[in-house]
Amino acid sequence: MTQGRLTSCIPLPVEHKLLVTVIEKAKDWALMHGVGMRDRKHFTKDAIQIAPFVLLPSPFPQTEFNKAVELQPILNELMHKVAHDDEFLTRTLQNALQVDEFTASLFDIWVKVRDEGMAQPISLGMLRSDIMLESRCPHTENQCAKHTPYCSWKQVEINSIASGFGHLGPVSREIQSYILRQLGQGDLIKNMPENRALSGLCSGIIEAYDLFGVPSAIILFVVEEISYNICDQRFHEFEISEKRPEIMIYRRTLTEIYEETTLNDKKQLILDGHTVAVVYYRSGYEPAQYPSTREWDARLRVERSTAIKCPSIHYQLAGTKKVQQALAAPGVLEKFMGAGAATGRVRDIFTGLYSLDFDENGERAVDMALADTERFVLKPQREGGGNNLYGSDVREALLRMRHSRERAAYILMERILPPLVSGYVVRPGASVPPPLTDLVSELGIFGVIIGTKDKIYCNRQAGHMLRTKLADANEGGVAAGLGALDSPFLLEM
Ligand code: ADP
Ligand code: MG
Repeated sequence: MTQGRLTSCIPLPVEHKLLVTVIEKAKDWALMHGVGMRDRKHFTKDAIQIAPFVLLPSPFPQTEFNKAVELQPILNELMHKVAHDDEFLTRTLQNALQVDEFTASLFDIWVKVRDEGMAQPISLGMLRSDIMLESRCPHTENQCAKHTPYCSWKQVEINSIASGFGHLGPVSREIQSYILRQLGQGDLIKNMPENRALSGLCSGIIEAYDLFGVPSAIILFVVEEISYNICDQRFHEFEISEKRPEIMIYRRTLTEIYEETTLNDKKQLILDGHTVAVVYYRSGYEPAQYPSTREWDARLRVERSTAIKCPSIHYQLAGTKKVQQALAAPGVLEKFMGAGAATGRVRDIFTGLYSLDFDENGERAVDMALADTERFVLKPQREGGGNNLYGSDVREALLRMRHSRERAAYILMERILPPLVSGYVVRPGASVPPPLTDLVSELGIFGVIIGTKDKIYCNRQAGHMLRTKLADANEGGVAAGLGALDSPFLLEM
């Protein structure tokens, strides 16, 4: 089957001299507006370099974009319910826990805190549902009524921890608007949807802060030792400080939290003499960020406290790939959402997701994958990019794990084949102009939800982001250096 192709927003290629001039201007715009990242090779806190970005916005069908935006509150609520269903989380993660130490440690903290009695019933969920257009058509060729270069969109994953791009999403729209104007194409900007991700996400943090309701309490950002993706973090702080100048924000690593915080007799988390109202994780989603027991002790202390966590530990468990796979199994969505139309709409966005548990279904999935490895992605219980297996690596891993319990820590997912679009990717240190290349995009829709098991205080969609990568690259993490910032150019199709 051939991969569809979407038409770029202006005719390409752009004439050489004009292209070089516009890229020079765009790079300066980027540096002066925080389209940046710290340099990994020559790290210094005194400079940022441009983050990779796509020169022109990538086409995306308007109807599918609207559908994704409208669906987000439904997905938020689903995740909220899953996070609060102890029995479901326990049953779903059971096999993975036997073989995946990281998830098992998270799970242990959750059980411990639950048994002691949760000091804070409110959770702050800042979610990002990542989706790709699917150019494969399930109907046999030529029978699809739509005749578009895509058939639908499918969910890649839903992130419940450290979902980045609150700033980089909206600023991608701004830089590409600037570029379009420099190319004399300013009238096209109207096709780029407004994006208020930064203010939407920060309002979520502020609403949680106000629900906490302790005067002069602080907000704590949990960060990694070195933050390369610094613009994506600091702009949240700038935004909150502009909206609410009286709120102090602290940044601490898990080790520093271990060393500098205490729990008082009311289970309040105390840092620097202040009560912590909200803990927002920008790190802490992968084993490397918990290298020693001190980091785990810090996480446990935070979970035990009255602080409102984003995410709380049950939200992080609800965001695991194993849970995503379990939600796609027959009857599971119905259990959480009933049998109404919304359930059908959510089911539609799932592509094939299969358990590799040590049972009959798992065996069948292994056979199916071995028969056609190109059709699948093999995913371990990890976040943050670069962990998934594709193509011949799927075969090798499955043959190796076939008779080992290890495979229960993976899920098998149908590979989505998004339509191609031609474009230019501007990268730091690369020659100008870059070559015209085939690209594919992944749209992320943000959602904010605040609530307890029984009461939801707020639930809304909050902006979007688009990441684009070379069509032949498997993964597209921008911070990992593979993907590039982009924004959607909406088309009636
Ligand atoms: P992570 O937690 O590492 O971000 P993801 O599930 O988002 O894990 O996968 C990482 C990347 O791999 C995605 O951003 C996407 O580019 C690619 N990818 C993941 N699943 C699929 C899939 N089913 N089909 C095609 N590409 C995929
Ligand atoms: Mg991802």
